[in-house]
Amino acid sequence: MDDEKLKQELFYMVRLTSKYDFKRMDVVEGILRLENERRILDSVFGRRFKTRIFDIAAEVAHDGNCVICGQPAENQVICNHCMETITESDYAQARIKPDKNKIKINLNILKHITKQNLKKVIQYILIVCLSVAFIIQLWIMKLWFTMPEINPLEKPRVSSYEQIPVADETEAKSQLALDFPEEEGYTITYGRTDTDYTGRFLIDKGACCEEVEDSLREDQRYDYYFSDDVYVFYISLNTDTAAKVGLAEINNNGAILIMGSFNDGRNPNYRYRFR
Ligand SMILES: [Zn+2]
Repeated sequence: MDDEKLKQELFYMVRLTSKYDFKRMDVVEGILRLENERRILDSVFGRRFKTRIFDIAAEVAHDGNCVICGQPAENQVICNHCMETITESDYAQARIKPDKNKIKINLNILKHITKQNLKKVIQYILIVCLSVAFIIQLWIMKLWFTMPEINPLEKPRVSSYEQIPVADETEAKSQLALDFPEEEGYTITYGRTDTDYTGRFLIDKGACCEEVEDSLREDQRYDYYFSDDVYVFYISLNTDTAAKVGLAEINNNGAILIMGSFNDGRNPNYRYRFR
């Protein structure tokens, strides 16, 4: 038997002795079964060891001396001196080192776990950041919806003022200014004198000239398509939230038509009877 094989055998015995309770038959049986397959405990020490642990488990009488050196052994198998000598041998230390490597590996696993934790922390931070971003978005969205609407749609409206005849563009402008006051952001600019269909100034307030014209009967057309002299004004609306333009026509009777984007609750391209 070579030296290496014996060292392996002795170390194996020490390890088994420090690890297992040989009073348990199931343990000893397990060791002996494994031994039958592997044939490690082949030396005189090994054979003594196998006999001893079986005797212990089976409660068979034995001398209780160290199976290696023959000195009394506290554990009935291997004396403390032999246990220590073998454990501290270069051979054993070389075999135990892998265990230290295991510890290193475990440390690496720990580091790995720490990395994982770091990852988790980063994930949490990300989640928090995203949540904050989301809350900010909600806040902006809320602001957006509660913000005054830019260029809100003008509700269709008609003048609440009486129709008063006008003699010139100045009077006409002052009549328009009643409905489109400067303090509300309106600017009225005189454009020109022009003509427009008489009938347009006679339709119901709020009615659309073009729509009425589409449905005129033959006998109504004759009176409708005379023409009136009109003053044409440009009306613009400029406030913090709206910028709109349009025009108004006012005839000498003081009847007013409007069209344009400040009248966008209706069709801004059509004229509507306003006053
Ligand atoms: Zn001994």
